[in-house]
Amino acid sequence: MGKVQETVLEIDLDALEHNYWFLRNRLQPTTYFLGVVKAFAYGSDAERIALKLQDLGVDYLAVAYVQEGVALRDAGVTKPILVLHPQSVNFDTLITRCLEPSIYSRHMLTTFLDAAKKHDQRNYPIHLKFNTGLNRLGFLEKDIEYLGEQLKTNKNVRAVSLFSHLAASEDLRELPFTKGQISTFKRIGTVLDSKLGYSPFRHLLNTSGIINYPDAQFQMVRSGIGLYGFGNEAQVDARLRPVASLKTIISQIHQIGPGESVGYNRAFVAAERCTIATLPLGHADGIGRIYGNGSSYVLVHDQKAFIVGNVCMDMIMINVTGIECKEGDEVTIFGKNPTAEAFAARANTISYELLTGISQRVKRRFLDN
Ligand SMILES: *Cc1c(COP(=O)(O)O)cnc(C)c1O
Repeated sequence: MGKVQETVLEIDLDALEHNYWFLRNRLQPTTYFLGVVKAFAYGSDAERIALKLQDLGVDYLAVAYVQEGVALRDAGVTKPILVLHPQSVNFDTLITRCLEPSIYSRHMLTTFLDAAKKHDQRNYPIHLKFNTGLNRLGFLEKDIEYLGEQLKTNKNVRAVSLFSHLAASEDLRELPFTKGQISTFKRIGTVLDSKLGYSPFRHLLNTSGIINYPDAQFQMVRSGIGLYGFGNEAQVDARLRPVASLKTIISQIHQIGPGESVGYNRAFVAAERCTIATLPLGHADGIGRIYGNGSSYVLVHDQKAFIVGNVCMDMIMINVTGIECKEGDEVTIFGKNPTAEAFAARANTISYELLTGISQRVKRRFLDN
């Protein structure tokens, strides 16, 4: 890729391809693969990522909200798209754009059945979400009877899948809890099939589930973070490649003496002579204030430079004392090193939050061979 001349988020579609096959090869050949592309494909670019996954042969895609699905349809995505958290106000759009809703409550089901009828649909695909312990969204076991009554003879919709979500798939200390979720999910499936009179396909695992609970892959898995290069585990991370790298350049360099300060509220005061570089990105670009005041570092010519003082809206300042550099030189905020995971961890957060927070102001640049 050419030289960086401003703040850019580089999106490596070859890394995406590598990660896709790494994950897919851990599954049974017949298991469907759903690529999660919500939140701009974890802060990268939903359209380019979805189209690439479609080319690679992904079976399903998922977004959180209807508008995200509409953007994918506008971009030419033809694969089935599961909307994980649709809002009933958008059901008309959802149906006209052939998006498939997760249905997780009685109220949602009633509202959707009305919408499907109004649009004169036959066997419109819906996905039944059950709560098996995360206590976020989902029907409970006591709703199965009701679901059977509502859906068994309904001609407008068809429950194509049954799914749930694990609460702690990345944490093996929670193994007994997760096994409990898996067995609850199996029990729900058996009863639901008998009440419906047909058998929706099943899916439960997210990325860490694929890694830690391969026996529970059922007919499909749903992977997000793994596609983008993180497995919530060092051994897996070593085999994956980060898709997104945030890079920028040095805008200006200042030499400051002992007692002089840097940035708003004079949050950094130099104890000795030091060299400070200003970078053109800040909290409006997704580098939150939490990363300031020495918590995280960036890489300048392969050397660590800590963020000093408060993160501003459009700028951060880094300490480049002892690092040979000049205005215009490239700086890596995160990418291969430090990884987004490592950068986030220093500020007590996770790669998911850092990646999805990179704002739309940052230009995206694609690598695809
Ligand atoms: C976001 C999400 C996923 C993806 O999880 P990862 O840990 O990123 O693989 C899977 N399923 C549901 C329901 C989600 O909301």
